[in-house]
Amino acid sequence: MGIQSAAFEVGASRRMTRQLVIGNWKMHGSIGKIRSVLPELARAKLGSNVAVCIPYPYVMLAKSLLKDSQVQVGAQDVSEYHVGAYTGAVSASMLADIGCELVIVGHSERRRYFGESSENAARKLRACLDAGLFPVYCVGEDADERASGQHKEIIAAELAVLRGLPIGLYAVAYEPSWAVGTGVIATSAQIAEMHAFIKETLEPRTRVLYGGSVKGSNAEEVLAVDGVDGVLVGGAALSASEFLEICMAAR
Ligand code: PEP
Repeated sequence: MGIQSAAFEVGASRRMTRQLVIGNWKMHGSIGKIRSVLPELARAKLGSNVAVCIPYPYVMLAKSLLKDSQVQVGAQDVSEYHVGAYTGAVSASMLADIGCELVIVGHSERRRYFGESSENAARKLRACLDAGLFPVYCVGEDADERASGQHKEIIAAELAVLRGLPIGLYAVAYEPSWAVGTGVIATSAQIAEMHAFIKETLEPRTRVLYGGSVKGSNAEEVLAVDGVDGVLVGGAALSASEFLEICMAAR
């Protein structure tokens, strides 16, 4: 069973679906690091609700290390173009070809450091769907936007590009950028409010993950919040023990 079906079991009520745990390795890792962490995940007999999104050069190595496991392998970005003269770009069909199952699109770091817009991210999302990949579309406000009470407006604008896309074929990650990589986690009330808002804006069945400083010690609390269908994990995904603790907290 792929992450798509783990994420959205056909005909099942939402209570019966498994919370997703997706690790984002960002630009970290090496052959040695991958060889030390992934076999530990494989040994833990995790389900297909767990995935690791690692840098492109290591995707095939990850696939081979996880071949006897249900853990899914994903990428952290993809080209919005399908094929052609786009030096340096990697297409969704290439990712599917090497066994990738999912892709993170529109991450706040892509928006901040690479100037990506929601429109770019939506084109990437569509490219993923065309290739049969499961996209995880990230949204989130920054600290100033939260302080000035604009957070819902920002998220609504970021979600507007998703209108008309089939709900079951992607997930949304609510990742306030002030909580990503900062060690500051959103409160349970903030998470519940924003997940409810995202579901109201799109469709109640939309899978919404929380991301932002999730670690072993707070995962249970985050995953218990109403409306949380899983977590997107950055820093803590680089440690097998920390990541496993988070996976064990998924219901
Ligand atoms: C992320 O990279 O998506 C993320 C949530 O990072 P961290 O867990 O390190 O805050």
